[in-house]
Amino acid sequence: MEIRVPEWLEKFAAANSSPIYLVGGWVRNVIGGLSPSDIDIAGRPLPDALTLPRGYFFATTYRRMGTALIKNRYRSDIEMEYTPFRTEKYAPGGGHTPVSVKFDTDLESDAERRDFTVNSIYYDIKRRKLIDPFGGVADINKRIMRAHDPERVFSSDGLRLMRLVRIAAETGFGIERVTSETAMRNAALLADVTATRKRDELLKILKADTLYGVEDAHYRGLRLLREYGLLRYIIPELAELGSLAPPNGHHKYDALEHTFRTVRAAPPELRLAALMHDIGKAEAVRRTGRMKDHEIYGEEITRRVLTELRFPAKVIDKTARLVRWHMYDRNADTRSGKMLVFVARNADIIEDLTALVNADRVGKGTDEPAPPVRFGEFYDKLVRSGAPLSIGKLKINGADLLSLGYEGTEIKDKLGELFDMCVLTPELNKHKKLMKLAAKQETNARGSGRQGA
Ligand code: ATP
Ligand code: MG
Repeated sequence: MEIRVPEWLEKFAAANSSPIYLVGGWVRNVIGGLSPSDIDIAGRPLPDALTLPRGYFFATTYRRMGTALIKNRYRSDIEMEYTPFRTEKYAPGGGHTPVSVKFDTDLESDAERRDFTVNSIYYDIKRRKLIDPFGGVADINKRIMRAHDPERVFSSDGLRLMRLVRIAAETGFGIERVTSETAMRNAALLADVTATRKRDELLKILKADTLYGVEDAHYRGLRLLREYGLLRYIIPELAELGSLAPPNGHHKYDALEHTFRTVRAAPPELRLAALMHDIGKAEAVRRTGRMKDHEIYGEEITRRVLTELRFPAKVIDKTARLVRWHMYDRNADTRSGKMLVFVARNADIIEDLTALVNADRVGKGTDEPAPPVRFGEFYDKLVRSGAPLSIGKLKINGADLLSLGYEGTEIKDKLGELFDMCVLTPELNKHKKLMKLAAKQETNARGSGRQGA
């Protein structure tokens, strides 16, 4: 089988006397008819012994594993990861910390340290020849993921359990029986994997449908995580939802399946929030015997879980707020003023909140008529009235309040108070008026005795 290789890569290979092989996702995708992924290459020499044609340089090197990221000064589209053939020995457990790495080995031994047969196909660029030690091409044609030696593959790196699910989801491939049985039996090895590695795989699963356009790939990925018993080693609070029975009438599915269906219906950027939206339910039931206020427990749990998984602070905060407010105005009966203030205070997430609530409804799977989601309607009202939609749009700021004698947290509180007033009465949002309002109330607060305007 001949594989079309970019011309620059052919030249790169030709410059080296030792064979250079394409390997990994790129080869898998070309054979499987999927769009190309990032370029991984391999060969016998250590990076230092490679001949780099003009313009090429090592952008990063990882000495211990011997890998190097290669780029080209003149072409920003060129980037590839080079990994010299190696064998690895692992400590017991799934932590993926090799006790030894040995280089200068043969192709078959290099293939043995890789995860799945479909990822262990080599293409010798110069000789235009495929080398397929474990029958990966046949597996691609059958569209299945298989480990050549499943017990060894999973026991040396627990993350491979998640890679199995993630790549199966992205590609739409099935999972071979012995591989899946072994994965399930070894689920606990995921406990040894670092939070950041798990986080990155989870994020890829949540967006799995967007990579190669496999419909509902993200939903299938989540179902596989559940089926394989992996979820409890990623987000235990989420796994717990699997044992909450559906409450009568409102839901058709258990809380975990409902969560997955909500994720399925949510746009890609909102899927983390969708995944977390009901995470407080088990805690609510434990404390009160009911699911009421689950969004309050949910916010707290979301902040803790996402911090443990090392998400960036901004992502944590936004996701936690979406979780906190996803039940707001559920019956469309909040009074108008309260609603205006709520929407103005949360203007930055109001579109996402609307999308999340809509996904939540789809996730319930019932045809029960639901009251309208009113955030958009109130947002439009605010825009039409010229109300400020962030504290920054107020015609008074912290420095002004400081000059009026406010200190510390008083400043934030006062700004919030003035903001709410301006939301309800946008005409108040003038510098002079606000200074007067702030000053007047300041004197009152200090009890100086002066009354009136
Ligand atoms: P993608 O399309 O996501 O890039 P990929 O299969 O190329 O998929 P990479 O993370 O780029 O994945 O890794 C390249 C190759 O390195 C894999 O195909 C696999 O052969 C090997 N590999 C990567 N991570 C592991 C791992 N944790 N255990 C074993 N082999 C791995
Ligand atoms: Mg790759």
